[in-house]
Amino acid sequence: MEKTIVVLGCGPAGLAASYELAKKGRKVICLEKDNIVGGISRTICRNGFRFDIGGHRFFTKISRVNDLWKEVLGNDFLIRPRLSRIYYNNKFFNYPLKPVNALVGLGFFKTIEILGSFFATKVKPYSREDTFEQWVSNRFGKQLYQIFFKTYTEKVWGITCENIKAEWAAQRIKGLSLTSVVKAALLGNRKNKIKTLIEEFSYPRFGPGQMYETMAEKIKKTGGKVLLQNKCTKINAKNGEIISVEVSSKEGKTKQIEGDHFISSIPIDELVLGMNAPVPKNVSESARKLSYRSLLTVNLMINRKEQFKDTWIYIHSPEVQVGRIQCYKNWSPYMVPDKNNSSLGLEYFCAENDELWNSSNEELIELAKKEIDKLKLARPESVFDAFVIRTPKTYPVYSMDYSLHLNTIKKYLVKYKNLQCIGRNGMFKYNNMDHSILSGLLAVENILGAKHNLWEINTDNEYHEQAKTWKPRNL
Ligand SMILES: Cc1cc2nc3c(=O)[nH]c(=O)nc-3n(C[C@H](O)[C@H](O)[C@H](O)COP(=O)(O)OP(=O)(O)OC[C@H]3O[C@@H](n4cnc5c(N)ncnc54)[C@H](O)[C@@H]3O)c2cc1C
Repeated sequence: MEKTIVVLGCGPAGLAASYELAKKGRKVICLEKDNIVGGISRTICRNGFRFDIGGHRFFTKISRVNDLWKEVLGNDFLIRPRLSRIYYNNKFFNYPLKPVNALVGLGFFKTIEILGSFFATKVKPYSREDTFEQWVSNRFGKQLYQIFFKTYTEKVWGITCENIKAEWAAQRIKGLSLTSVVKAALLGNRKNKIKTLIEEFSYPRFGPGQMYETMAEKIKKTGGKVLLQNKCTKINAKNGEIISVEVSSKEGKTKQIEGDHFISSIPIDELVLGMNAPVPKNVSESARKLSYRSLLTVNLMINRKEQFKDTWIYIHSPEVQVGRIQCYKNWSPYMVPDKNNSSLGLEYFCAENDELWNSSNEELIELAKKEIDKLKLARPESVFDAFVIRTPKTYPVYSMDYSLHLNTIKKYLVKYKNLQCIGRNGMFKYNNMDHSILSGLLAVENILGAKHNLWEINTDNEYHEQAKTWKPRNL
């Protein structure tokens, strides 16, 4: 009998799995709670303007992900130059660092202080590297850590850097140190490419959503089902197997969808808490202890041709709440309907249901206008339309005890042989699109007989090691 595979979530991971399955002629049903596919990598369209959730660079060292992207979208990619500066203390700093710009911005005496603190740390580094603060200070010195890492990182995570695991830094900024940054600044970043400093990347003409909308269309064309506004609310298990999921539609109607295999990219804590089967108390407690950061994007449409040349700007200054500002026209000129206009996305990192999250849209738009004025990036009166996107659970928080809780959950879930967890929140892993997609592709291979341990997809080593062989490809 033909087996049915049920995939939970239509983000990059769930769609990649469904795409592979449909291509292989398997019976696949992909369920999505939202009314649009793409998950965190979706693109929202408003009156001809397109908005990314943050900004999604397409780059990967995993050739099968590259091949998949190319297969889906053909040549509908642009190669974009990256220009991103840091705003701190009323000044802009080039990123990657440019020595003259940094020297002028920081001043001679501060630069001496920074170098002094760098050499002091080299002589007497932290003996342990458990926290983000220790990891970064050992590579950059305490002064640079304070200026260029602490404020922004704390805005993103909402907790102090002493409470963030070093693992996050190791995953995201591996290969980066003051020496490597200065080397790259002096010698160019060509020979010794540092991934976080990559100057070019690919981007779909109409934003990342174009990739995932096209993928969903192709799944449907090859016989797969993509069901939007179908939220998975319960996972029914019997005798150590998942037998079906309960989904609730927009109208509140529920139905059961049966399957032989289940691939889940929904947040792992929600999966556990949604189990319609006995869940040991310590497992459900661990699920409740996993936490996330969420993202509010205030999108402003502006009646000016150009705001600035950056694709995005990191806002380190603690006197404003915004953490990063995207200029979507610089990602792709096709993101705006009219070249005389532009648009900005102001990213506010917050916790679901904190004060900022609970502010009204009007309050958030006013805040965003005030802050772009304060930063002298645009005049508030040039804004002719604005709206807010709330995206919960955008960042799994690597708190000091998260791995204990995740391991407890993994040990419990492993007993369900026909269930696989994939993706960013599905595995509670700080994945970019490529590793999320890879987990989806490997889950499909497992269904076909392979024995991959998806938890071993090594984001750390693959991801940010110095990418000597990497170069942007015209996908
Ligand atoms: C600000 C920001 C910038 C980023 N920039 C980049 C970048 O430059 N390059 C890059 O490669 N990556 C980037 N990423 C990461 C990228 O967004 C994620 O890696 C990717 O979207 C993860 O895909 P996923 O399918 O695992 O999860 P998601 O994108 O989270 O998709 C999961 C899907 O499951 C659905 N879902 C959840 N619960 C249920 C339920 N109960 N029932 C049914 N459906 C459900 C969700 O609605 C969602 O559609 C960025 C992320 C953020 C937050």
